[in-house]
Amino acid sequence: MAKYTRLRGTTDFIPPQSEILRSTENKITETIKTFGFREIITPTLERKALFTRSIGETTDIVEKEMFSFKDKGGREVVLRPEGTAPVVRAYVEEGIYGRQKFVRYFYRGSFFRYEKPQAGREREFHQIGVEVLGCRSPYLDAEIIYLGVKILETLAIKDFTLELGSVGCLQDRKAFVEKLKVSLGNRVDLLCKDCKRRTEQNPLRIFDCKVKECRKLAEHLPSLLDNLCNDCKNHLHKVENTLKELHVRYHLHPHLVRGLDYYTGITFEFQHNLLGAQNTILAGGRYDNLVEEIGGAYTPACGFALGLERILLALKEEGKTPADRNGIQAFACYVSEKEFLPAFCLTQELRKRGITSDLDYSGKNLKHQLKSANRVKAKYSVILGEDEIKEGKVLLKNMDTGEQKLLSKEEAIEIIKQ
Ligand SMILES: [Zn+2]
Ligand SMILES: [Zn+2]
Repeated sequence: MAKYTRLRGTTDFIPPQSEILRSTENKITETIKTFGFREIITPTLERKALFTRSIGETTDIVEKEMFSFKDKGGREVVLRPEGTAPVVRAYVEEGIYGRQKFVRYFYRGSFFRYEKPQAGREREFHQIGVEVLGCRSPYLDAEIIYLGVKILETLAIKDFTLELGSVGCLQDRKAFVEKLKVSLGNRVDLLCKDCKRRTEQNPLRIFDCKVKECRKLAEHLPSLLDNLCNDCKNHLHKVENTLKELHVRYHLHPHLVRGLDYYTGITFEFQHNLLGAQNTILAGGRYDNLVEEIGGAYTPACGFALGLERILLALKEEGKTPADRNGIQAFACYVSEKEFLPAFCLTQELRKRGITSDLDYSGKNLKHQLKSANRVKAKYSVILGEDEIKEGKVLLKNMDTGEQKLLSKEEAIEIIKQ
């Protein structure tokens, strides 16, 4: 038993898992960049008030899941539980809305929620998100949903469902909440403890509750979509029409509220069909009032976030986990100790030429070195012996076929590079 162990809900990504995580992340961000997004990097640590204000006091995240503590100066700080509020904070604080009316940002990094760890729900997790600030066009809502589709396509993830909904504008929500309270009536008693308490402050949270009884009851409650004003209805229709134009299949969800209070209007979730309870792999929506809420001028906005761990689980479920590709292209070997230094220098030269290379430092015999080359799955071994050095050549061994050729260094490099 190790003396020091990692904290519950955190993960060590050991190669090849680390490489799979990064290569997946890179594929996703490359796709995001083709839509004109630029990366924004914000701190991991933020003031607690930023999230209680933006996400909402009565949400699960704020009530139970924040990694919060007091720093030495007595400030209430948290490890960020999500990415949108920090981006909006930076946007307002740096005065970006005064200079640039329309921006597209993406972010990536670690996020933290203190929850009971389970598959696809760790306490430290990795997200990539996009935010478009400064535009109310429904075409943008449709476009970021389309970007979600494109990302999953790039990763070859196929078995997912797109849920589309709308929580309406603030006026719609206010009216809906009243209607909801009436409709709930004395059925409030059937709700779980959390929901019972929340019905007073924020009854919409019922639709986000995972408790079976609450979910069952929610099915029979009025639909948010039937209670939208004309403006919100039109917005939703335009999003739907654009999605149809782009051949994106979706399912209209009557109660897609998401676990955050800042959403207004369109909400969406990509759910993977082979994952269990934690099946949301990418989700977002419109949050037209958040910039104002955080102290900026009115700036309509929309965005989404995806969970990398869940994306990796989805890939695994579909049997598409990227292969372990150890990057060693050439492994330098020495026949005797005399050739060690030439092999060492050859390794440095290969690296300089852009070839990923390594060698065995143990000083053991050639057979042992070739075993090491196999262990790192090297494509070629470049063997140096007394004769090779005398002739100014190298013995190039293809590690797959076992074929060996005596070549000049340049010829060998040409073959390795192919
Ligand atoms: Zn409305
Ligand atoms: Zn509940």
